Amino acid sequence: MATIFSRIIAGEIPCYKIAENDKFFAFMDINPVAKGHTLVVPKWENDYIFALEDDEIAEMMVFAKKVAKAIEKAIPCKRIGVAVIGLEVPHAHIHLIPITTEGDLDFKKEHVHLTNEEFLDIQKRIVEQL
Ligand code: AMP
Repeated sequence: MATIFSRIIAGEIPCYKIAENDKFFAFMDINPVAKGHTLVVPKWENDYIFALEDDEIAEMMVFAKKVAKAIEKAIPCKRIGVAVIGLEVPHAHIHLIPITTEGDLDFKKEHVHLTNEEFLDIQKRIVEQL
């Protein structure tokens, strides 16, 4: 069965898309720990990021860098934090999260609740910076 991320990439499940190329896809996390929290995923299924081939993980990080630079310009923050968890969705992904303190990367803290309009506004601001 396809992962939820494969179904997002296929357009079967809606998302706030940020960017894509032939191999990778970036979209906003639906339960963000900060405004601008974005996920970068490969378009093929692989459960574990460190099961990717060397060239695949390198290319994924280069793609993530472009997205991170755009988030950095769009969202007030000190820099973009990177997290890999993968306990919930069995499809390799990188979390890109705008941070000002190390506590901003805490997934256990209260997440940010955004309306559809707020998601759309943040999406637009990030996409404009790409
Ligand atoms: P983890 O696998 O532990 O890295 O967590 C998976 C992440 O995917 C969580 O931050 C979820 O909020 C996010 N997520 C799950 N389903 C969706 C979805 N349909 N759209 C956007 N983000 C999602």
